Amino acid sequence: MWESGPYDRRDHRRFEGERRKTTFHCVRCDHIYAITGRVECGRCPHCGHENPRLKF
Ligand SMILES: [Zn+2]
Repeated sequence: MWESGPYDRRDHRRFEGERRKTTFHCVRCDHIYAITGRVECGRCPHCGHENPRLKF
């Protein structure tokens, strides 16, 4: 077995970053995408349409 300490720590930090993404569903082209950070609206990278944040 190799030492895996540094790798475990890096994976954990990446997971924390993923959780801060805001998910959007484009009403125009049905594309689902995520934008990093807590934002109220986001532009679709596929068609450029601005979509409001999904409400759960
Ligand atoms: Zn779109």
